Order: sequence, then structure tokens, then C-alpha cells
Amino acid sequence: MKKVIVLGCTGSIGASTMEIIADFPEDFSVVALSAHSHEQALLALKEQHPQARLVLTGTEDAREGMDYLGKEGLLRMLEETEADMVVNGISGAAGLLPSIKSLETEKDLALANKETIVTGGDLIFSLAEKYNRTVLPVDSEHSALFHLLMGRKPETVSELILTASGGPFIDMPFEEQRKVTPAQALKHPNWDMGAKISIDSATLANKGLEVIEAWKLFHLPLEKISVLVHRQSLVHSLIRTADNALYGQFSAPDMKLPIQNALFYPELRPVKAAYTDLCGPSLTFEKPDLVRFPMLALAYRAAEKGGPAPIVYNGSNEVAVAAFLKGRIGFTQISRVTAALLEEKWPDPQDTLEGIETVDRLVRERAEAFMGAEL
Ligand code: NDP
Ligand code: MG
Repeated sequence: MKKVIVLGCTGSIGASTMEIIADFPEDFSVVALSAHSHEQALLALKEQHPQARLVLTGTEDAREGMDYLGKEGLLRMLEETEADMVVNGISGAAGLLPSIKSLETEKDLALANKETIVTGGDLIFSLAEKYNRTVLPVDSEHSALFHLLMGRKPETVSELILTASGGPFIDMPFEEQRKVTPAQALKHPNWDMGAKISIDSATLANKGLEVIEAWKLFHLPLEKISVLVHRQSLVHSLIRTADNALYGQFSAPDMKLPIQNALFYPELRPVKAAYTDLCGPSLTFEKPDLVRFPMLALAYRAAEKGGPAPIVYNGSNEVAVAAFLKGRIGFTQISRVTAALLEEKWPDPQDTLEGIETVDRLVRERAEAFMGAEL
């Protein structure tokens, strides 16, 4: 039986993870669970997993039934709880520290939190090596690439192609996007996800983060990583090998497949996910429009700049998206914040946690100031 900790168990990824675990009671034992604000939902999960330690990260005030509280409590739980694997389904840069602590306490890491790789990828891989642990991507495209690349020599791979559904505004000119409301942007055509990633899918910042994530995860030059819009979300990514053959991973748009593959790794189990019928809609592939979706072009710019730039990309976008959701800035202003901040000077994080946290904090302060003064 694998002992599993699920971080962010009340979110979209977390809920899918809990459903899979419920489907395989013989294989997994849940030893701890965390949520940020949904206290009742967390307590309800304790009924199915009575042995699980509970962490509520959003408060420091004592709460009935909670074993640990706050950000520090989460780290302490990871230190004090023995487990084989941590599923990190926390949203945003808040996921980085728990990812680091999971590896330092010798647990494998099933990583949905892409911000961990974007902001701290190099540090994460050095820790995984040091503690001899595995980092398994849960993001559907990266899970697809991970499986497609298995057993291949890097020099035989000439291109990684990330697919993007294009989100709800794929056909909407940039000018028209100015009027987009949070409610419109939250409605994704193919996937049901948390609020932040849904907005990122509408601006294509999600694909931008995924380009940086793939670049850091698979250690291939940036020129070998490309994006194609594939509206049907059936092909989750492709690789091109040196002989110009393409290999792709096809499955229904359901996060349960990559989550289950990470949970069972290195095994592959039959899954209850929908059967993929290729005789359905025609599959189409298009080049993304970088003028209509500046966040995608800015991600390449951030990766090219390297050093602190991916942290700047991630942090400025996170602040801008939160402001958009509160109605403080417009949809097309999200990319203006990132575009401006990427061209500013930032300290080199030098792949240390302290360095990363310093850049992240400075970026957030500057993003707030920029929105106040310029937008
Ligand atoms: P949700 O917003 O649905 O869930 C986030 C989870 O994290 C919730 O359990 C929430 O707790 C918790 N949380 C929120 N803020 C904090 C914090 N500051 N500290 C600790 N915990 C916190 O997000 P998703 O499940 O959609 O996404 C999670 C991660 O997975 C993101 O990094 C996303 O990019 C990635 N991902 C998601 C996909 C999806 O299909 N949803 C697909 C691929 C990647 P509470 O509910 O109690 O507030
Ligand atoms: Mg994805």
C-alpha cells in the first residue's frame, strides 16, 4: 500500500485525486490532507480517511479537528508524517515550499503545481537527485511528454509539441478581448478547473507556463519546444523524433488519467476514464496567434532571458489575474503587467529558495505598484 499525502485536496486536482484513491482502496492509504480555506470539505474527507492528519493552511487560529495550521503547519506536517508520495495540487507559487519540503523529507512528488517548476525547477531537480526521489508531472501535457519520452535518448528528439485547446477566446481579436468579464473568462470549453488556471487558459498564460515547465522538466533547448492549438483537447502533446516521425498521446480531456498514472508510477493500471473514440470529431492543429495572445510570446521571452525572468512571469501574472478576478483591471491588461515587469532589472535568484522568494516578493510588490500607477 502506498502512503499518500494530498495537498490542496479541496481543489479541482485534489478532488480528482481523492476520487481515484477512493476507487483503489487496496492500493493507497491517505496519511495527510491539506486545504487552505474549505474547512468543512476537509473535515468531511476525514470520515473516509480517519487516519489522515489534517492541515488548514489559510489560518493560524486553532480549529477543531485540525492537526496543523498555517503555512508553517503544512511544512511541519511534511516533516512529521511518513509517506511514499505527495500529490501537490496547491494553486500558485504557494506550492513551491511544500514541494521542496516533500523532497527533503524523502517523498516522491506528483506535481500538478506547475509554478513549482517554473519558479524553482533547477532547485527541485537538484533536491530530487540529492534525496533520490522521483518528480512526476501531473499536468496533462507534461505527463503525456513524460510517457512519450520514456526510454528515448534526448539527442533523438527534435521537437516537443505542447497542445493548447485555445481557451474560450481563441477566435476573438485582441481588441474585442478588452471587454471580457471574469465570468466569461472562467468558462473553459473543454476542462473544468480552478479559477486561476482557467483565466490562464483564456490568456494562454497557462500554455506559457507550460512551455517554461517543459523546458525545465525535460532539459531540451527552448527552440525545440513549440505549441499548437488543438481545439478538441484529445491529443495532449506530441514529440517529433530526429527521423521526423511524430508520436502523440491521445485521451479524453480528464485529469484523472495523468493523476492516476503518477499515483501508480511506475505501474500502469486500467482506469475508469472515458474511452477515446477517434471516429468522433475531426482533429485540427493550428499555429497560435502570438499577437492575440501576448502571454504566450512573453513566456518564450522569459525563458530566453532565464535567471529571475520565469519567476517574474509567474508572479506578475498571478497578481494581475487576481486583480482581474476582482474587477480591478481589464482582461487585456493582464499581459501589460507581465510585459512591463519582464523588462525591468531583478536580482539573480541563484537557484536558492531565499533567492526565489526574494524575487517573487519584489515582483508582487512591483506588480501592485505598476497596476496602481499605469493601468
Ligand atoms: P484550485 O483552485 O481548484 O485548488 C487549489 C487548492 O489549493 C485548493 O485545495 C486550495 O484550498 C489550496 N490552496 C489555495 N491557496 C493555497 C495556499 N496559499 N496555500 C496552500 N493551499 C492553497 O486549483 P486547481 O486544482 O485547478 O490547480 C492546482 C494546481 O494544479 C495549479 O498549479 C494548476 O496550475 C495545476 N493544474 C491544474 C489542472 C486542472 O485541471 N485543474 C490541470 C493541470 C495543472 P481551498 O480550496 O481550501 O481554498
Ligand atoms: Mg496542462
